[in-house]
Amino acid sequence: MKRKASRDEEVVTGEGQVASKAEAKTGVVIPHALTVRQLADILGVSAVEVIKYLMRSGIMASINQVVDFDSAATVAADLGYEAVKEAEASAETVEKYRYTGEDSAAQEPRPPVVTIMGHVDHGKTKLLDAIRQTNVVDTEAGKITQHIGAYQAEIHGQKITFLDTPGHEAFTAMRARGARVTDIAILVVAADDGVMPQTVEAIDHARAAGVPIVVAINKIDKADANPDRVKQQLADSSLLIEEWGGDVVCVLVSAKQGDGISDLLENLLIVAEIQELKADPTRPAFGVVIEAGLDSSKGPLATILVQTGTLGIGDNVVVGGTSGKVKAMFDDKGKRVKEAKPSMPVEVLGLNSIPQAGDSLAVVSSEKEARAEAQQRQQEGGRVGASMAPRLSTLSAQIQAGQVKELNIILKTDVQGSVEPIRSSLERLGSDEVKVRIVHSGSGNITESDVMLAIASKGIIIGFNTRPEPGAKLLADSDGVDIRCYQVIYNVVEDIEKALAGMLEPTYMDVVEGHAEVRAVFSMRQGKIAGAYVTDGKVSRGAQARVLRNGESIHEASIASLKHFKENVRDMTAGFECGIGIDGFKEFEIGDIIETYTREKVD
Ligand code: GDP
Repeated sequence: MKRKASRDEEVVTGEGQVASKAEAKTGVVIPHALTVRQLADILGVSAVEVIKYLMRSGIMASINQVVDFDSAATVAADLGYEAVKEAEASAETVEKYRYTGEDSAAQEPRPPVVTIMGHVDHGKTKLLDAIRQTNVVDTEAGKITQHIGAYQAEIHGQKITFLDTPGHEAFTAMRARGARVTDIAILVVAADDGVMPQTVEAIDHARAAGVPIVVAINKIDKADANPDRVKQQLADSSLLIEEWGGDVVCVLVSAKQGDGISDLLENLLIVAEIQELKADPTRPAFGVVIEAGLDSSKGPLATILVQTGTLGIGDNVVVGGTSGKVKAMFDDKGKRVKEAKPSMPVEVLGLNSIPQAGDSLAVVSSEKEARAEAQQRQQEGGRVGASMAPRLSTLSAQIQAGQVKELNIILKTDVQGSVEPIRSSLERLGSDEVKVRIVHSGSGNITESDVMLAIASKGIIIGFNTRPEPGAKLLADSDGVDIRCYQVIYNVVEDIEKALAGMLEPTYMDVVEGHAEVRAVFSMRQGKIAGAYVTDGKVSRGAQARVLRNGESIHEASIASLKHFKENVRDMTAGFECGIGIDGFKEFEIGDIIETYTREKVD
C-alpha cells in the first residue's frame, strides 16, 4: 500500500528549492505508474512542485497526467527520498496486456468487426435484427441468437462480426477507453429523412478513428423514400459515394422487408478484404470486453471479443481490474464452445468480478500472475492504458518539442453559421509541420459524446458562445479534457496560434490554503514577526502568502519562518496561535490578514 512520507523539515525551502537533503534517505513506496497528483500526495508536496521537478527532467506533465515509476523516482530523489517500486512481484506493464494490432507471426485472415451508426430512428436496431434473422451462422430451426453484445453472421461461408450496441457514442466510448475494436462502420441513413445531425456526427466519429464507412440507405420501401437526395446530402457533408466519384460503398436496403441485406454483407466482405484483416490464432488470446454483467446463478459474465489468438477453457486471464480462469464459454446462440478464435464474440464464465466494457483481456501464464496484475490495475484505478486527453498547453510544449504533428480540435458553436468561419480560420493556421484537424464540428452544447471524442482522438474542445452540458463537464473534469470556451473569434485564433508556435504558457490558479490574523507584532533580530491566529485552513512554512490590509494585498512572498511558541513547525492549523515571518516584509500591523495559497497549473 501507498505510504505517506514524513518529509524531512529542511528538505524544501520557501522557494521550493532543495536546500539540504535528508541525511539518511527515507524510502517511499511508489506504484509503477501514477498521476502527478498522486505522486504529490505521496511525497507530501504540492502538485505544482512535482510539475516543476518533472520539467527539470524535461517532462511536461499536467496534474492528472500519468507518469511512470522512473520519472516519479527522479522527483522523489530530488526531494531526498528513495523510491521503492510497489508490487515488485509483477513488473509487467499494462501495455504488455493490451493488443496493439502488431502481430507479425503466422497471420491468418480474420472476420471483420462491424458497428452500425446513424441518426436516431433511422433503423440501426432493425437492421441489426434483420441481419441476425437472415444470416446467423447457425440457421437451424429454433436457434435464436442470444443477446450477448455481438453476433456473427455468415455469407458465402465467410463470417462477419456485428457489435450489437449501435451508435457512435458506444463506439467512441470504447475508443476512449483505449479499445480499438471496429474495422468497418455501417452508416445507416433513412431514405425518407435524409442526413441529420447525428449522421454527420457519426461520419466524424468514424473518420476520427480512421474506420472505413459503408453507407446503407435504409427504408427504401417507404413511399416517400428519396435515396438520391440522401446521396446529394452525403456529398454536401463531404462523403462521396462511388456513384458520385468517391470511394465509399453505398447500398440500398430495407431492414423491414429484408431487401438488400445480402448485398450489404457482400460489400462488407469486399471492404474487409481491402483492409487485409489478420490475426494469429496460435498465440494466447487478447480481447476486449464488449459487455459484462452479473448472472444470479452463474456469477460474473462477460462478452469478450477475441482480437487475436485463441481463448480456451482453463485459460488464466486478466480483464481490466479483475482476473479469473475461463470455466465455460458460450457463443452468440448460447451454445457451449471450447475455444474462441479471432473476431469471435463469446460469453465467458469464471471471472472473479465484473469488468467494464472496453477493458482489455489477456491470457497470462498463471493464476498468480493474473491476480497480481489485476490487483495492480485496481490500485491504479484502471486509468493506466486508457487514453488521457492532453491540455492545450501540454500539446503546445509537445508541438515545440516536435512530438506532435497534428492538433485535433472538436469545435462547437452556438449557431451553425459560426462553424465555417472558425473552422477555416483555424485550419489556415496549420503548417507543413503541424496540421490543425477539426475532428468534429457542429452547433449546440458540448455533449458527453464530444468529450469522449476528445479523449479518443487526444484532442481539445473549443466552444464558441456555447457551454458544456453538466454531464460533459463532469466527464471532462475527471478525464482531464481541455474545454476552452470563447466569445470572440480573435481570441480562439490567438490561442491556437500560440499553441502551434509552442508558446502557449500554462495558466496557474491560486488555491487558497488558509488565513491567519495578525494579533501582535514582535521585533526580532532577523526582522519583524507577526503573532498571528490561524482562522481557517492552514499556514505552512514555505507556502506562498500575501499580506492583506483592508482587503488589499500589500506584499506577496513566501513564509520564511513559522513558530509555535519557541518551536519551528511545518504547518499550523486553524485555532492555533503562531509566529509568522514573511520573506522581505517588516511592516506588519495588528489586524493584517495573512493569506496562504498554492499555485496550481490549470491549463
Ligand atoms: P434506431 O433508433 O436507428 O435503432 O432505429 P430503429 O431500428 O429502432 O427503427 C426506428 C423505426 O423505423 C422503427 O419503427 C422501425 O420499425 C422503423 N424501420 C426501421 N427500418 C425500416 C425500414 O427499412 N422500413 C420501414 N418502413 N421502417 C423501418
